[in-house]
Amino acid sequence: MRYCKKCAMPDTRPGSVFDEEGVCLACRNYERRATIDWDKRKDELKQLCDKYRIDDGSYDCAIPVSGGKDSHFLVYTMKEEMGMNPLLITVGDPFTKTQAGWSNFRNLGETFNCDHILFNISIDLFRRVTRIAFEESGNPLRFVEAAIYTVPLKMAKNLCIPLIMFGENSAYEYGTTDKDKYSATDDIFRRFQTIELDYWIKKGILRKELNTIISPSEEELKNFKPEVIYMSYFKPWSSVTNLAIAKKYGFIDLAHEWKREGCIEDFEQIDSMGYLVHLWLKYPKFGFQRVSDIASRRVREGRLSLQEAKKLIMKYDHKLDQRAMQDFVDFLGYSTKEFWDIVERFWNRDIFEKVDGTWQLKDPIYKDLL
Ligand SMILES: [Zn+2]
Repeated sequence: MRYCKKCAMPDTRPGSVFDEEGVCLACRNYERRATIDWDKRKDELKQLCDKYRIDDGSYDCAIPVSGGKDSHFLVYTMKEEMGMNPLLITVGDPFTKTQAGWSNFRNLGETFNCDHILFNISIDLFRRVTRIAFEESGNPLRFVEAAIYTVPLKMAKNLCIPLIMFGENSAYEYGTTDKDKYSATDDIFRRFQTIELDYWIKKGILRKELNTIISPSEEELKNFKPEVIYMSYFKPWSSVTNLAIAKKYGFIDLAHEWKREGCIEDFEQIDSMGYLVHLWLKYPKFGFQRVSDIASRRVREGRLSLQEAKKLIMKYDHKLDQRAMQDFVDFLGYSTKEFWDIVERFWNRDIFEKVDGTWQLKDPIYKDLL
C-alpha cells in the first residue's frame, strides 16, 4: 500500500490517483480551492435558482436528504439563502434509528418548513438484497445505493420538479477525478448504467420487485429531464462548517447517546445503527475506513497534523462498533459467528496477514509509531 504524503490516504481507495510526488488528487483538488472565486460561484448558484424558481406554489427543486448535518446545510442554503421551494426526499433504511437520527429527520422538515417524503423500500426485499450483496461482495447496501439516485430522479420527473440538488461531488472531493463541475447529470446516468437488473433476477429477486432501481429511460425523459447538480461546486464543502450551520438550526449529534467504537467524531453517519457496518466493510477489502477518510480530510483542511492522524488511524480505524454489528446481524438474521465467517472471505490477502489469529495490515501508515 502507498499512502499520500500529505494526508495519509491509501492508494487502495478505488479509483484513487497519486502524482509523481506521492500526493493524492484529493489533496491537489483541495489546494485548488484557494484559487476559486467563491463569490462568483455563489452568483452562479443564484442564477441557476433564478432560472428554475417557480412562484406558483410548485416545488422548484428536490433535495435528496438523509437528515444529517449535510442535509441541513443543503436545505438551509436552498430554502433560506436562495429562497427556493424544495421538496425533501429520503430513501430510508430499516436498521434501528438512533434518537438523534429521528430527531434530526423530523427537525429538517419542521425547522425549514419543507414537505418531506420518506420512501421506504419493502423491508422484506431490503433484507433479501442486503443479505445477497453482503455475502457475495461484502457490499451490503449495493441495492439501496442505486435506489438513492433512481428514486429522487423518478419522483422529480413525475412531479415535474426541474432541479435536483445533491451535496458533494465525492469523486472530486475524494480525488478520483480532477473535474470540478456543478452538473451531476452525467454522473447520475453513468451510475444508472452500472445497475445490474439481471444480477438481481439471477439471485432470485423478481423483476416486479426491482422498481426502485429501474432508472427512467432517455425516452421517458425526453419531454422532462430534471437538471441534477452538486452543491460542493458552489460552496466550499466542509463537514465542520456544515455541522456549525446544522447545529444552529437544531441538528443534534450523538454525544449524549452513543460513543461509537471505530469513530473519531459523533456527528457523521449517525442516523441508523446497522448502516455503520456497510461503511466498516471497506476495512477488510481496502485496509481503511471512516477514520482514515475523516482524519485525511482534517489534515487537508489544516485541522489535524499528519502525526495525529496516524495515531487516530492506528487506534480506531480497524474497530467495528459492537452495537452497530448487533443491529446489522439481528436485522438480517445472522449469528455473530456467521457474520464473522462471511467477513472472513473479504480480507484482502495482498495487504493483510494473519498474526496470532487476527488480520493485521502488512504495511500500515502508522508503522513508525509501532
Ligand atoms: Zn492526500
